[in-house]
Amino acid sequence: MRKYIIAGNWKMNMGLPEAEKLAQEIVQVLGQESKVEVVVCPPYIAIPKVADIIKGSAVKLGAQDAHWEENGAYTGKVSVSMLKSVGVEYVILGHSEQRQYFHETDSTVNKKVKKVLEHGLQPIICVGELLEERKAEKTLQVIKTQIEGAYAGLSAEQATRTIIAYEPVWAIGTGLTASDEQAQEVHAYIRSLLKTMFGAGVSEGLRIQYGGSMKADNAKGLLGQPDVDGGLIGGAALKAESFKGIISAA
Ligand code: PEP
Repeated sequence: MRKYIIAGNWKMNMGLPEAEKLAQEIVQVLGQESKVEVVVCPPYIAIPKVADIIKGSAVKLGAQDAHWEENGAYTGKVSVSMLKSVGVEYVILGHSEQRQYFHETDSTVNKKVKKVLEHGLQPIICVGELLEERKAEKTLQVIKTQIEGAYAGLSAEQATRTIIAYEPVWAIGTGLTASDEQAQEVHAYIRSLLKTMFGAGVSEGLRIQYGGSMKADNAKGLLGQPDVDGGLIGGAALKAESFKGIISAA
């Protein structure tokens, strides 16, 4: 039985005072949650503060990206060991905004996945098609390329320690959401692909989140699909009440 995982991606929102307040509110409403794995991914500068606030609660800490090198002359970047040293357990990788604006490729995602796993953290690997790709009926092909790229060279043991987020790019921050059926079709496809790559044990255990304008009112349908194991939430994760609404639906 796969446990639902709902992760809030705060993106480049929330300065330190706002992050502190939101983390406190989330701990208040979700600090004892045990049926669903709840993760918050604040901007880097707020991570240590949020780590202090959620300590002792059920809420877990994630980051929005990490570099693939251990350390060195990489101005502006943050390493996995730095994140680990402040209590981060999950790292979002390959988010479509990283792909669109910061030259993220399947190959850089792959290097990052390996580094995150080397340090014992869990990567949340984002994949998803553009609207043009969906219209051209290339969705599954795009997903296949992204998954094969992200998992290149990984063993089955490493693959079991990953999480996938299927995020149709046209649904992120747009208010448009994949229908329950569209989400299920791609999630089932991802699971079948992983079965071919790593075997049934891996594909049945690995969690696949849906992301793209998930909100309390559409969460139940999406999370009710057999291959949808949680959500990666942007906008609705910026308020404790709306975040909680999604977790209640799960
Ligand atoms: C995201 O950024 O991963 C996301 C799903 O954003 P939103 O929920 O705002 O569409």
